[in-house]
Amino acid sequence: MTPARCGIIHGLSFVAQVCHRRAQIPCFGGKMTESTEEKTVPTNFIRQIIQDDLAAGKFQQIRTRFPPEPNGYLHIGHAKSICLNFGLARDFGGLCNLRFDDTNPSKEDTEYVDSIKEDVKWLGFQWDGREHYSSDYFDQLYGYAVELINQGLAYVDELSPDEIREYRGTLKEPGRNSPYRDRAPEENLRLFEKMRDGGFAEGEACLRAKIDMASSFICMRDPVIYRVKHQSHHQTGDRWCIYPMYDFTHCISDAIEGITHSICTLEFQDNRRLYDWVLEHISLNSDKRPHQYEFSRLNVEYCLTSKRKLKLLVDEGYVDGWDDPRMATISGMRRRGFTPAALREFCYRIGVTKQENVVQMSALETCVRDDLNANAPRAMAVLHPLRLVIDNYPEGRTENLAAPNHPLREELGARQLPFSREILIDEADFRESANKQYKRLTLGRNVRLRYGYVVHADSCEKDENGKVTCVHCTYYPETLGADMPDGQKVKGVIHWVSAASAFRTTVNLYSCLFNDPNPGAAEDFLSTIRKDSLVVVENAALEPSLKNARAGDTFQFEREGYFCADSRNSAEGHPVFNLTVTLKDSFAKVEGQK
Ligand code: ATP
Ligand code: MG
Repeated sequence: MTPARCGIIHGLSFVAQVCHRRAQIPCFGGKMTESTEEKTVPTNFIRQIIQDDLAAGKFQQIRTRFPPEPNGYLHIGHAKSICLNFGLARDFGGLCNLRFDDTNPSKEDTEYVDSIKEDVKWLGFQWDGREHYSSDYFDQLYGYAVELINQGLAYVDELSPDEIREYRGTLKEPGRNSPYRDRAPEENLRLFEKMRDGGFAEGEACLRAKIDMASSFICMRDPVIYRVKHQSHHQTGDRWCIYPMYDFTHCISDAIEGITHSICTLEFQDNRRLYDWVLEHISLNSDKRPHQYEFSRLNVEYCLTSKRKLKLLVDEGYVDGWDDPRMATISGMRRRGFTPAALREFCYRIGVTKQENVVQMSALETCVRDDLNANAPRAMAVLHPLRLVIDNYPEGRTENLAAPNHPLREELGARQLPFSREILIDEADFRESANKQYKRLTLGRNVRLRYGYVVHADSCEKDENGKVTCVHCTYYPETLGADMPDGQKVKGVIHWVSAASAFRTTVNLYSCLFNDPNPGAAEDFLSTIRKDSLVVVENAALEPSLKNARAGDTFQFEREGYFCADSRNSAEGHPVFNLTVTLKDSFAKVEGQK
């Protein structure tokens, strides 16, 4: 585990050009703490760069972009990038484009395009029609490639992909020039046209930038900038059989769109040389050239942030689709009941740095809990029902007991809980006998039914295995909203639902999909999948008002946790619920289950 294991990131060392100053570092308690370290950096060094650029009059208005490749669903790491790019534009009065980086048709699909748009919107950001595709620029990109060829800065190589790799050299050894490197521009132009016109099979030819095969940056050793792919594209159909590579496409797309700050993750740090090289050598108006800035990827314990691995889980049926509530995809977290506000808060709290780190899962859950605690209506749900018969309560009678929807927010209103002679409580809330620490129901003692009466347990019935099947109680009629008449204190309060009117449904108890905090680093990540990451509770007994919950509605089931009506398996009038997060940090427990 890396040292910066928790989300509070202190005392980071940055690259030299970053301005060092005292900063406010947000902590997970929600308060801001003043760092005492002299050289602590701003929580968001990119923000500082933008402030300086604006102050120096370098730009009138900033423009950022979020550039997903539509080859999978977005995950928690993308949420960070979305919040950063859209958040900067919002905070500095700029604009943020949504750009699909769609240069690899074999892995892309419009299903992913649609899901990405839905996820960005759900997170609370919009792009006002600025929806772009790298493929919109294929004609221009082709033109700029021709410009490089004409300047003698690009050539068509006919080495095989394996040979290109072999010629590239290693970190210790320089590469070797391809025998095709010194072709004349006219010949390169003719061959590039032949590539475009379908005259080469895949792997037979490619276009390479002519830079420096001895560069200490491998990405500068004559990188491939166009390859042949006889493949239909989801946006351009069969128009092209050559496709530009990411490094060539991204910088030009940024420049075409007038991006001022092109923000990406650290693995592209070296590629910044290539980004600048391409823009320096093409004729695209360059007085306000975009600049690339890198920040560290977000890694969260127990979460996978590799689209390839997430896709494998989906394709091999380990999970119930990209939006399985155990997936760290935005759609999975939505289905689980995480809220956009909680995710935004999480991204804000973890900050933006160049330090590689792993954020604890409990930091994410804390944000979810904080938001739901403040906003989710309360409800009662008995997951493992046990009959409780109140022998002195009149048969056939039903009272409606008023219960507030939220203890602190009167404006959220109240609901009626039907109360009758026979109710259901959770199996875990009754023991025949127990010591004084046990505050729930035991024979011969009292407990309060939440929003209702105090009851006294008299006896219980058992089946042939000795399992308690029913508890007989007496209730105190004068204790509704009042203390015991004799002033006796009743410490325990348990939740319940009326047996006759309970809404019976399925509740899915989700926990982490993996037992390894860093599944992505495991040799075989599939072997770290937990068998019990989903426990299905059939026939849970819920208070009747929950029948009307609509997909996505979230509740605090009192004393149990936060739950969300499932968006896939719920029917009208019959929602199924997913555990969003427990009431208290459950991570110590999960780790113990390894
Ligand atoms: P791929 O391997 O498919 O390229 P990717 O994770 O880089 O996967 P993209 O769709 O290219 O996915 O990412 C879109 C944007 O989100 C990029 O700017 C990328 O840097 C950023 N991003 C991706 N993963 C993370 C992460 N874990 N933390 C922060 N930003 C991320
Ligand atoms: Mg990428």
